[in-house]
Amino acid sequence: MNVIGKVTVLPQLPAAVSRLSELAYNVYWSWTPRAQALYRELDSSIWERFQQNPVRTLLEVPRERLEQVAADAAYLERYAQVMADFDAYMGKRDTWAARNAPDMKPVAYFSMEYAFHESLPIYSGGLGVLAGDHCKSASDLGIPFTAVGMLFHQGYFRQLFDKDGWQNEAYDDLDLTTLPLTPAKTADGQEVRVSVQIAGRTVQVRVWQLQVGRIRVLLLDTNVPENSEDDRKLTARLYGGNQELRVQQYVLLGVAGIRALRALNVPADVYHMNEGHAALLGLERVRELVAGGLDFRTALETVASSTLFTTHTPVAAGNDAFAYDLMDRYIGDWPAQLATSRDDLYALARHDQHWDGHLVPAFSMTVFALNMSRAANGVSELHGEVSRDMWKFLYDGAEAEEVPIGHVTNGAHNLTFTSQHMRDLLSTVLPADWTERLEDEDMWKGVDNLSDAQLSDVQLVMKREMITFVRARMREQMLRNGASAADVAATDELLSEKALTIGFARRFATYKRATLLFRDKARLSRIVNDPEHPVQFVFAGKAHPADNPGKAFIQEIYKVSQEPEFRGKIVILENYDMNVARHLVQGVDIWLNNPRRPLEASGTSGMKASFNGSPNFSVLDGWWREGYDGTNGWPIGEEREYADLNVQDDADAYSLYETLEDVIVPRYYGTQTGEQSWAHTVRRSIETVSPRFSMQRQVIDYVQKYYRPLAVRGAEVAANGAQRARDLGAWKTWVRAQWPYTTITAQATLPASAQPGQTIPVTAQVNSAGIKLNELKVEAVLNRGGHLTHHPLQVQPDGTFRADVPLTESGLYSVGVRMIPEVPGLSNPLEAGLIKWA
Ligand SMILES: *Cc1c(COP(=O)(O)O)cnc(C)c1O
Repeated sequence: MNVIGKVTVLPQLPAAVSRLSELAYNVYWSWTPRAQALYRELDSSIWERFQQNPVRTLLEVPRERLEQVAADAAYLERYAQVMADFDAYMGKRDTWAARNAPDMKPVAYFSMEYAFHESLPIYSGGLGVLAGDHCKSASDLGIPFTAVGMLFHQGYFRQLFDKDGWQNEAYDDLDLTTLPLTPAKTADGQEVRVSVQIAGRTVQVRVWQLQVGRIRVLLLDTNVPENSEDDRKLTARLYGGNQELRVQQYVLLGVAGIRALRALNVPADVYHMNEGHAALLGLERVRELVAGGLDFRTALETVASSTLFTTHTPVAAGNDAFAYDLMDRYIGDWPAQLATSRDDLYALARHDQHWDGHLVPAFSMTVFALNMSRAANGVSELHGEVSRDMWKFLYDGAEAEEVPIGHVTNGAHNLTFTSQHMRDLLSTVLPADWTERLEDEDMWKGVDNLSDAQLSDVQLVMKREMITFVRARMREQMLRNGASAADVAATDELLSEKALTIGFARRFATYKRATLLFRDKARLSRIVNDPEHPVQFVFAGKAHPADNPGKAFIQEIYKVSQEPEFRGKIVILENYDMNVARHLVQGVDIWLNNPRRPLEASGTSGMKASFNGSPNFSVLDGWWREGYDGTNGWPIGEEREYADLNVQDDADAYSLYETLEDVIVPRYYGTQTGEQSWAHTVRRSIETVSPRFSMQRQVIDYVQKYYRPLAVRGAEVAANGAQRARDLGAWKTWVRAQWPYTTITAQATLPASAQPGQTIPVTAQVNSAGIKLNELKVEAVLNRGGHLTHHPLQVQPDGTFRADVPLTESGLYSVGVRMIPEVPGLSNPLEAGLIKWA
């Protein structure tokens, strides 16, 4: 049909079930299977056809069916229970935040992508799932929180394999009226529009609202009639297009995002930038303050003091950096609006790049984000370390360990990924309010009371559901690709519920090494085809449309899955999304992850599998390096990196096969009881991973480590017309100007060898070039085995500095002396970015 227009006719719900519509517009249902069941029961084929989308289901279900359920006592009882639970959730006063952070100030969270549910495909992978889960737990915990993102009306892409296993991409236009979105409105009922200037054009932005439990997500959309055709496409696709488009999308997210918050009067005291994509929000916040009369420097201090930046990318090349002339095209008019110069503004983002054999200054979103914030973190302990090392060049003279980037290890939203079967089982051994205390490690010990049989029964149910799902999906794919009747029929035989089943699903970025398993195919074949103890694998994952090596990985797996010895035992499913993810993490016996260390900043899918009792089998990278405790899953390889990637791949593949053959398969098929049993590993994986890697624990960490301190600091710096910001800004400018004229020399009297506890005298002479001596920290730094200790030197009546520095333990010490300008109220000692070593 040739479509000339579309219209949505709203359903008239019978009074008895009228609140189905209200509930459909709160993605509370996305982590509440019983709420979903109310819509599925209306018509399961409509439900499945439209990505399990309650709004769409209500639109499509015939009126007679609605009348039927409205007269069905059993349905009404389930409906009443779900609504009562929903009301209790929404109205809850005694939340974690009310009890633990009653004075908590509102947070605005910015992210390029969000994954809440498969029916709203505005995410590509882990970053989006993390952001969506963060919102869900912020709601669960009762935190004042608003999220800002983009409404990509063609989403990321739908992945289709052709008959040779090559990935093709399909882009569907979302029908927004069939999604749980409503136009965001001001207090007086006006739909909100904000506008931004991009390259001299005024781009209009519509703001949608998505209700996630108790919190709101605002989604920006340029697809409005007032805009030119090109501008309407600015929010068409996530991570589509070229660098020009990227920069424009970043301007939208940052600048239009702040304007949307203001237009809606949403309070925000702390701003959280999830990845560098959001960094340009700092431009708009500085502009507001400059327009209010502050100078650039003072405005910058004020804005940064209340901003947190979370970095996710452990490879330098993965961090967006744009040529200056590209930035000029899109933010060229900003320096004037900020009452600053282009040089001063771009200096805050500068990261020189080797492009075409030349060293070129570039505008790095990460560097800008680091400079526009006063707190930053990586997403696991190891990733924090890697990030400090990666960005230490910004802090000349600093040791990696003092670079002010901390970490909060990621988590996942337990309820979104835990099957209803497992939840019901957990409810038999955990306290009634367990879903509100997910981070409570002691509580989870109750899992010890689940019997081996209870666990294996529930896991079999989940596995059957997954196998049914896989077969149906493979059948669809075969039919679409014109497969033979025999091949289509063979999909009914894919996978066996009796075989040890291993899942591997994630974005097909090459560092994730999806094909590592195939390094020794003969050995893999012996493992898979063991007549007594068979093993089978389910793969899924998308490659970025421009990533041909990633697509080649997909094709390689597909080809292996078609080889006679692997047919039906290795499968690769198309279109990895939240739905596929839930089926896999719930249905497999083991979750496999073998990235090239240390490139997996955190990883989260293994957590989701563990929530469902599927132990993790993974390289000791990201979260698993912290999560693995010897009883709750298995490591792959060692905690080290190899210089030669080939050698590393060989070593890791060898370790993978060996652990599988010698440890995992015997345990899975074994008859041992107690600590040697499979059920023991399952229990350990549930009870150790669920609390420590719950999103609830993650958000609590953010509140305590960052949100609350930043709110306090941000308020102090902004108080009294930003007096503190003005002082700090002026002071930094002064010390930076004087710094080249300062000098420091130092002496330490070092014996040939010393006893533990002995002290050594250290002295230093300083020319402070006018910087007050009490604003100069002069210190001895001892490095013992890579671990630093700092010992302040005291100023003496003769103007020299000295201290007796203790050598507390045996070992080889290196001794250095340095000075750092410091005043009270800095976010960290390196804030001025000045260190001078003697
Ligand atoms: C959890 C999840 C991811 C992230 O998985 P990683 O293990 O971090 O790679 C990606 N995509 C989907 C759909 C997910 O549910």
